[in-house]
Amino acid sequence: MNEMNVLEEKQKIIDRAPFCNMKIDDSSVLDTVDGRTICGKCYKSRKFFCYTCYTPVIDQKYIPRVKLPIKIDIIKDPREIDGKSTAVHAAVLAPQDVKIYIYPDFPVLSKNEKIVLIFPSKTATNIEALFQEDGNQEEHDSIIRTDLPVTRAIFIDSTWHQTKSIYKEQKLRELPCVVLRSRVSQFWRHQKKSPRWYLATIEAIHQFLIEFHTSAFESYKENRLEIKDRDSELSEFCREYDGQYDNLLYFFKYMYEKIHSIYDHDKLKAYKRPLI
Ligand SMILES: [Zn+2]
Repeated sequence: MNEMNVLEEKQKIIDRAPFCNMKIDDSSVLDTVDGRTICGKCYKSRKFFCYTCYTPVIDQKYIPRVKLPIKIDIIKDPREIDGKSTAVHAAVLAPQDVKIYIYPDFPVLSKNEKIVLIFPSKTATNIEALFQEDGNQEEHDSIIRTDLPVTRAIFIDSTWHQTKSIYKEQKLRELPCVVLRSRVSQFWRHQKKSPRWYLATIEAIHQFLIEFHTSAFESYKENRLEIKDRDSELSEFCREYDGQYDNLLYFFKYMYEKIHSIYDHDKLKAYKRPLI
């Protein structure tokens, strides 16, 4: 078997049960929700959450809440169809930490924060490198960092082609860029000419947070015991990633399973996209 075939075989195995190693709440309760509900804010009829107001329309007890280690802003392309974007999942599941802006509306880019843009620009680094850069400045092992190299991450929510047009914005170009490790998308929505590693926004946020946690865990490992004693923002990174952000895929997994119960995976165009 050549390299490409090995890759495709591996992917087939993951595709059979893409969420099996994740800690995602059972969403079968969503099947008991009958019909639609009127959103209390915009009075439109919605199913589980309102994709224009980013709020649940069903009882909050049916929807998990996820606490994130940093703030996340999503800049949404106005041409992106509201009901189809997965960015909204993040705002509904992690309302305290996620904000959505519809371009040209923009988040405030404060100098007091350490902001990165998730975008594969020419100068983009990976997340691991952000933690290492910081580490190198500290020559003494005894010094314990009490901060994180990133406090806010910005994602662009748009199709593969539209992303490039938002990145033309000068304010964004000045931000350091971060690229995610490659992961194959499980998004069922077919996008013309996009490769399968082009992730849905909610998958990208989830992937980012796992890499962030893993890098933080590695970089603070040495000082773990001392950090544990302190009541710092780093204390949650004293243990390995244990699925704490997996519920961000709560609606994504639910919808994935719905689609797969109706259509045959091998016939869905989205999964036939090239792997590289
Ligand atoms: Zn609404």
